[in-house]
Amino acid sequence: MKFESKVIHGGISEDAFTGAVNIPIYQTSTFRQEGIGKHKGFEYARTGNPTRQALEELIKDLEGGIAGFAFASGLAALSTVLMLFKTGDHILLSDNVYGGTFRVVDKVFVHLGISYSLVDTSDLEAVQKAITPTTKAIFIETPTNPLMKITDLSAISTLAKSHNLISVVDNTFLTPYLQRPIEHGIDIVVHSGTKYLGGHSDVVAGLVVVAHEDLKERLGFLQNAVGGILGPQDSFLLIRGIKTLAIRLEKAQANAKAIVDFLHTLPQVSKIYYPGLGAMISFELSDPEVALKLVENVKLIALAESLGGVESLICLPAAMTHASIPVEQRKALGITDGLLRLSVGIEDADDLITDLTHALNLSISEGGTSHALY
Ligand SMILES: *Cc1c(COP(=O)(O)O)cnc(C)c1O
Repeated sequence: MKFESKVIHGGISEDAFTGAVNIPIYQTSTFRQEGIGKHKGFEYARTGNPTRQALEELIKDLEGGIAGFAFASGLAALSTVLMLFKTGDHILLSDNVYGGTFRVVDKVFVHLGISYSLVDTSDLEAVQKAITPTTKAIFIETPTNPLMKITDLSAISTLAKSHNLISVVDNTFLTPYLQRPIEHGIDIVVHSGTKYLGGHSDVVAGLVVVAHEDLKERLGFLQNAVGGILGPQDSFLLIRGIKTLAIRLEKAQANAKAIVDFLHTLPQVSKIYYPGLGAMISFELSDPEVALKLVENVKLIALAESLGGVESLICLPAAMTHASIPVEQRKALGITDGLLRLSVGIEDADDLITDLTHALNLSISEGGTSHALY
């Protein structure tokens, strides 16, 4: 089955009991047992719920893994994966990982005795050098946010295997429609389902897909033992969102390409970061004051954090999503005050370009009078 069909018919796409073409929301916490240990596959809904199971089977099929797990948020998913490790273990993290991933490692798991190093995973030699005798895993985000740095997943998975490291990829930005890390030898894929998979900015969810039997067992144990599961209503919403993943991404990607072409014509734009895939664009305006005004002057495009929805969103990473990174480190990474990040939605491309043009002109005419960033 091709991907476009799999998003609709993958996993468990029909209710076996009624034939309903959508898996119902099984709003139940427990299941009647015919005898002790005799049941229809479900006992208690933290351990398993049919709606959640349908979602877990679906994401497993889309990523090409052997098992899927659904969690209450992307960070609940990431945290559960981090619980595979123990005191004394060391992990490598892409130096531009999602802020929340960095925070939970740095502020929570470090206190449990897990140490980490930040490394530019697009530089294979740097990764090799950062591996220590206690290193157990490597966490990668590719492309990175907001600078769209690319990591070679096949090269990393080969390196990881040769050092017995578990390789983990946060695939939130490209989704399995555009990138399937397990096909490149990666062991675990993590998602914030809140973004492209849900796609409508109406649900917070996380997903994990594993590639091996031992990881399936360990993750399944942790999901049930720790309990950060996704509820049936949100599981239903995520399944519903995933059905249109391919068609939404096609449109959003076409819009993104049109916007990149437009940005190339603007003398005020000093840098454009677009990897040629997906619908996230970052671009830098040479005047940070204009950038600060532009995010307030757009009308159709909303000034908001998050990404991956049908609606276009813009943000100023230095003041919003990445404000918690110390200024010096932020500058070193290239996250300047004039850098804008655009999550391109599925509106009409001309409307988006018109909105950006108006906002830019207005911002330039207002230039220099705005409040300073810090
Ligand atoms: C949003 C996001 C997360 C965290 O997911 P939540 O669902 O907000 O908990 C993790 N990684 C990336 C790349 C994200 O964009």
